[in-house]
Amino acid sequence: MRMRVVRTGTAMTASSLRADCARCAALCCVALAFDRSSSFAFDKKAGEPCQNLLPTFRCRIHESLAESGFNGCAIYDCHGAGQFVTQQLFGGRSWRDDPRLLMPMMKAFAEIKALHETRLMVAAAMQLPVTSEERAAFQSFAAQLDPDGGWTELRIGNGEGRMLIEQVQRSLRDLRKYVTPSSAQQKPVVNSRQAERRIGHSSRRTLQAGASACGGSPSGGQAARALDHEPDFER
Ligand code: SF4
Repeated sequence: MRMRVVRTGTAMTASSLRADCARCAALCCVALAFDRSSSFAFDKKAGEPCQNLLPTFRCRIHESLAESGFNGCAIYDCHGAGQFVTQQLFGGRSWRDDPRLLMPMMKAFAEIKALHETRLMVAAAMQLPVTSEERAAFQSFAAQLDPDGGWTELRIGNGEGRMLIEQVQRSLRDLRKYVTPSSAQQKPVVNSRQAERRIGHSSRRTLQAGASACGGSPSGGQAARALDHEPDFER
């Protein structure tokens, strides 16, 4: 399923926010922890490669995740953070080639995922009937979240992303006045954080979830829900 581009004024949410597992070093399958539950068939610690992960970074049970007890993987979406970290920040290298890369890749994955989620929230907020001043502010946020030259290890390391996310979150809270009960009550679209809440903490990637979470222009209901969705930095 192809993702439609959502124009936000100065920036776009596009394919860069859609998971591309083929270009990722399976970061979600190593970085995240999960507990044995209805969503995962066994326990896994953060930083420990999943038992189902093949040397090729493919999932051994990809075609039967839900049937195999890994529905958490089937609904997880990194919003494109995996391939960005693997390709843009680490030049295609992987933690398998060099285990010393594992921790920095995990850290970058958490931070880029939070930034990508924030881009989606900004795009959703722009669908609300905001004032021209508020629209200008969110257009500015959209540009800052998708900077020329992209996010670098240096920019991430100096806390620039975290500060920006906190600013956006403060502004998003101010938009709650536009949220009507009816828009907030629309059937939720599963996104990664919601999925994580459902399963306790960590969850997994999916192509299907990518389509539902970012596969089109946000509706009013999605925008409303976005205001209650605050990304954090997974560890
Ligand atoms: S998709 Fe899930 S089951 Fe498959 S390797 Fe990754 S973490 Fe393991």
